[in-house]
Amino acid sequence: MKVFYQKSELNASKNKILAKSAGLVPTMGALHEGHIILVKRALEENELVLVSIFVNPTQFNDPDDLKNYPKTLKSDLQKLEKLEGNIWVYAPNASDLYLESITAKPFDFGALESTMEGANRKGHFEGVATIVQKLFEALEPTSAYFGEKDFQQLKIVSALVEKEKIPVKIIPCPIIRHSDGLAMSSRNRLLNPKHRAMAPLIYETLQKALALKEKHSPAQIESWIIDFFELHPEFELEYFTIADAESLQKTSVLNGTKNRAFIAVKLGNVRLIDNIKF
Ligand code: AMP
Repeated sequence: MKVFYQKSELNASKNKILAKSAGLVPTMGALHEGHIILVKRALEENELVLVSIFVNPTQFNDPDDLKNYPKTLKSDLQKLEKLEGNIWVYAPNASDLYLESITAKPFDFGALESTMEGANRKGHFEGVATIVQKLFEALEPTSAYFGEKDFQQLKIVSALVEKEKIPVKIIPCPIIRHSDGLAMSSRNRLLNPKHRAMAPLIYETLQKALALKEKHSPAQIESWIIDFFELHPEFELEYFTIADAESLQKTSVLNGTKNRAFIAVKLGNVRLIDNIKF
């Protein structure tokens, strides 16, 4: 494994090895098994795997969220070191990617960003698209791995690649969960023990909603979820949406399996998201 802090160093080495396939796994660090499974998949499918570790300031709409986001570079590198294969880590400072000004580029993803995470975290996807484009331009991967845990992000990145005609293949990867069902997330480590014990209720609730699908409309299921979380006031429900899995627009009638249910809740001051096929 090699670790680079500057894109110029990484590219100088990359030009020397001429890998036919380079798979990028972009992360914000605080690596967990969900990230490691993405890296393992990229290792199986590429000669070289690039893992970026960078907490991107422009995708945070809440300064406290950015300040509290876990930063654990040393243990992240130890986890990656244990994997077999050709891994290059890119762990830059903001200035290596943003040069002078740490700002997001204006993008218009239309309806894809006007809902859920886009509606609840203003500017979030412009920040995501800005950093992902910078990483693609800096590292020139042939493919890039993104988790369905951030399903809307995956759609935004696919739209970005199409819009900007970036020659990279986007590979969607399924959600990895703890044995109690909670989707793995770097933010889980910010939960206090009481909230961590309650957090599996998010996935359990999604499953219960799914069981209502045959006999109830999306609007009825949504109001059932709202009532359910009112009985569990530790959870602050931000949204529950059943949407078309392609357009991400709210579905009023369920048709086959083309839908996904999405949820965002706050437990204490930790914001968690999840989604399932619906
Ligand atoms: P993050 O470090 O949270 O920005 O995540 C980096 C990448 O890992 C993103 O593509 C995420 O969607 C993906 N990821 C994070 N958690 C999971 C998970 N539990 N299952 C699958 N992919 C994940």
